[in-house]
Amino acid sequence: MPSAQELADRVESGDLRLYELQDHADPKTAAEARRLLLKEETDADLDTVADFSFPAERADPNIENMIGAAQIPMGVAGPVPVDGSAADDDFYVPLATTEGALVASVNRGMAAIRDAGGANAEVLKYGITRAPVFSVADVKEAADVVEWVEDNEDQIEEVANATDPHIEYQEVTPYVVGDNVYLRLHYDTGDAMGMNMVTIASRSVAELIEDETPASLVAVSGNLCNDKKPAAINAVEGRGYTVAADVFLPSDVVEDRFGTTAEAIAEVNTRKNLVGSAKAGALGFNAHVANILGAAFLALGQDEAHVVDGSNAITSVEARDDGLYASVTFSSLPVGTVGGGTGLPTQSEALDVLGLAGGGDPVGTNGDALAEVIASAGLAGELSLLGALAGRHLASAHEEHGR
Ligand code: NAP
Repeated sequence: MPSAQELADRVESGDLRLYELQDHADPKTAAEARRLLLKEETDADLDTVADFSFPAERADPNIENMIGAAQIPMGVAGPVPVDGSAADDDFYVPLATTEGALVASVNRGMAAIRDAGGANAEVLKYGITRAPVFSVADVKEAADVVEWVEDNEDQIEEVANATDPHIEYQEVTPYVVGDNVYLRLHYDTGDAMGMNMVTIASRSVAELIEDETPASLVAVSGNLCNDKKPAAINAVEGRGYTVAADVFLPSDVVEDRFGTTAEAIAEVNTRKNLVGSAKAGALGFNAHVANILGAAFLALGQDEAHVVDGSNAITSVEARDDGLYASVTFSSLPVGTVGGGTGLPTQSEALDVLGLAGGGDPVGTNGDALAEVIASAGLAGELSLLGALAGRHLASAHEEHGR
């Protein structure tokens, strides 16, 4: 096998392309050759990027043109007791982030939840979507296509389910805009987040539609899915997991943990998360759930771009006679414990901390539990930030942590 330096030289001379290196060397050597080439071209020192511990071939399904690994500090918050339908335990939640004070903040929220006896969490709805777009002649033809789809769902189900033993077709919602027909297809994908699975299944469904109707497929994703963009359809109809977590904090816990009152936290939530978000035309009515999602997704091998979908969340807070009720409801949280980045060694270890690595028994229970745990971590993050704002000690917390 040629050395990394020989391979880098061949790329530099134009004899090989960067992406062809993997055909001439094992993944580790190919990564080294790319680093040598980058060093030559940019003079960047990549010693730390090169210093990763997992076997390079384990990342083969997840990355092209690999040069090493981006190492992000990982912390842990918790434990947080979760009383869910699938998650029923005390969980330490791994969080990977470069934002100082984030883990400390979530940890404080979890301590308050712990003092209160734990969080409730429930998956309210589940189904990941793909919405192919078809062109038709006019609205008459669009109506005919929709009629065929509605009359032949059994065929659609059969074709979709044949693509993978772990996929289950749920339903289709057709939308027509002039000479465009969108079929928003919903699926259960077991413990996987499911985007690859539903793309493959939807391609087969689209072939059936093209065979049986005059519709012509334009794109397997027509953006009514809606994947990785802020979208009201996900906020209203849900996508992936619609999941909620809530807790009741007695007044003494609010005082001990946040140095403030239930009324003050409820007022911050109303004026900031509800009124402020409404005035801003925001889709997410929350303080910072994206912070917790981003850190949890990186640690746990989730598709980090789905932070966009996940931040469609509403935080509600009420001051009650003897304490504070708080909830966070995520309308579209696409997560899974199988597939994507979940099999990478680091992320699989982090999922092990939750006891949720791999497929669940029965299928789907690990995915459900992960959604409930992340929702509970999101609740902790919301409580802590709202508490800090109500107690007016947000800036001092950042100062204390040196930033
Ligand atoms: P995946 O990586 O394609 O893996 C899913 C596969 O895992 C299933 O096909 C299934 O294969 C197997 N599996 C084994 N046990 C399972 C269980 N208990 N439940 C469900 N599946 C099980 O995963 P994915 O979630 O569909 O796709 C995730 C990837 O999609 C991420 O990397 C993400 O970045 C990417 N993505 C793709 C698109 C796209 O349009 N293609 C869009 C956004 C994101 P068997 O049934 O054969 O065992």
